[in-house]
Amino acid sequence: SAALVWFRRDLRCFDHAALHHALRRFDRVFCAFVFDTEILDALPRRDDRRVDFIRHALVELDAGLDALARGAGGEGSGVIVRHGRADEEVPRLASSLGVDAVLTNRDYEPYAIARDRLVSERLQAKGVMFEDFKDVVIFERDEVLTQAGRPFSVFTPYRNAWMKRLDPGELQSYNVAPHAGSLAPKPAGERIPDLAELGFEPTDLERIGLAVGMRGGRVLFEDFQMRIDAYKEARDYPARRGVSYLSAHLRFGTVSLRELAAWAWTRGSAGAQCWLNELVWRDFYHMILWHQPKVVSENFRSEFDAVCWDDAPELFAAWTEARTGYPLVDAAMRQLHTAGYMHNRLRMVTASFLTKDLGIDWRLGERHFAQWLIDYDLAANNGGWQWAASTGCDAQPWFRIFNPVTQSERFDPAGRFIRRYLPELARVPDRFIHAPWKMSPADQRACRVEIGKDYPAPVVDHARARERTLARFEITKA
Ligand code: FAD
Repeated sequence: SAALVWFRRDLRCFDHAALHHALRRFDRVFCAFVFDTEILDALPRRDDRRVDFIRHALVELDAGLDALARGAGGEGSGVIVRHGRADEEVPRLASSLGVDAVLTNRDYEPYAIARDRLVSERLQAKGVMFEDFKDVVIFERDEVLTQAGRPFSVFTPYRNAWMKRLDPGELQSYNVAPHAGSLAPKPAGERIPDLAELGFEPTDLERIGLAVGMRGGRVLFEDFQMRIDAYKEARDYPARRGVSYLSAHLRFGTVSLRELAAWAWTRGSAGAQCWLNELVWRDFYHMILWHQPKVVSENFRSEFDAVCWDDAPELFAAWTEARTGYPLVDAAMRQLHTAGYMHNRLRMVTASFLTKDLGIDWRLGERHFAQWLIDYDLAANNGGWQWAASTGCDAQPWFRIFNPVTQSERFDPAGRFIRRYLPELARVPDRFIHAPWKMSPADQRACRVEIGKDYPAPVVDHARARERTLARFEITKA
């Protein structure tokens, strides 16, 4: 008997649910990945770092599968890579390999659900079984429900119920190596296409220093293990190395979520518990997306449909181009573009600034992040944006509006992060770094920064913007 394991957001060859089940049940197991043109063709930039990240991960996965097969006395193995529509390529590959089943790990995004349904139908028409497994979250879909059997829409009780359900069995590894003897060799001539063949250009992934693949994920995880106890205190300060930086690896499955969660759970320190809590947020937003796929384009809470956002293309351009005049916001936007990453505190600050200071629809900001974040994840990004815009489940109340200057003073007190990304403000004295427009002409001359020329004046006045936002949201009280 033979099976095909279809890899998607789980690019590793250890602790892998679908691969584990396939190897245990079938004599010959092939592995495949499809660069899905339905996703790739919609990407606006040809130098998209994610395509490069995935390609690196596939090269390592290919070598990893080969080594596992050889280690088990086999002839070698690897990952068969296709470039085309996944709903056509997977059934075609299943036929040409003559497999009895296709096994994969579940994805909760609306596009993936529709695609998998189609693939499943097409396979069944050919007499091939399609089976999917939970792997990319700890608890999925209906596994954590309220006592009334309904999905949660508030995080804290969800977290409490999630923690209550957790037991070591849920975090147990789906081992691969002991069963690797069933890995089948790749058909002759199979190779991984390069970026140009996929229609993409070289990227600066190496320059930005994000460790890639399973090995990169391991290095980051080991580094974080030494810092996790300080996570609770350090996590909110973007200039400090306080967070794990594992998000892209969690997104593409080059680390095992179960291994990470088990480690944090066993560690048990305040820092580790706080970090585990963030992984629960991740499950929470996946669960929300699965139950409420409408959130992709609509407010989670429909009472906010009455809120009327501004059409302000110039202000939106100022935000995307890091020239709002608010240093923390602009530094954060530069981090997004230069590193393909943004610190969580800054995602909250910039999202709040776009929606509450500039009065612009969260959907525009959400799309912009979706283009630039290497760790972009529909569930978490949508959840984060709707949280900041106050339209989401368990969101920031609409009348609580971040002050971008106060946030800057609190979370980047010495302006270290700001200066890292805005070198034009390097000489601005600490007392003005959070609001440089307050410098007198003499102060500006002294530090050789002219506001309005070397660095923009603020595009809006926060106090006035705040009043406008309160008025904008008043309507929801009706
Ligand atoms: P750590 O603090 O080390 O957290 C560990 C992991 O927990 C993260 O990698 C992530 O998988 C998960 N996590 C942490 N916070 C959250 C959260 N609030 N919601 C869901 N999962 C979380 N996260 C993404 O993975 N992809 C996104 O596209 C994304 N967009 C966001 C947009 C906005 C407006 C906001 C406010 C948050 C967004 N987040 C997103 C959540 C969070 O900002 C990132 O997960 C985090 O900054 C990634 O860095 P890290 O791995 O070093 O985080």
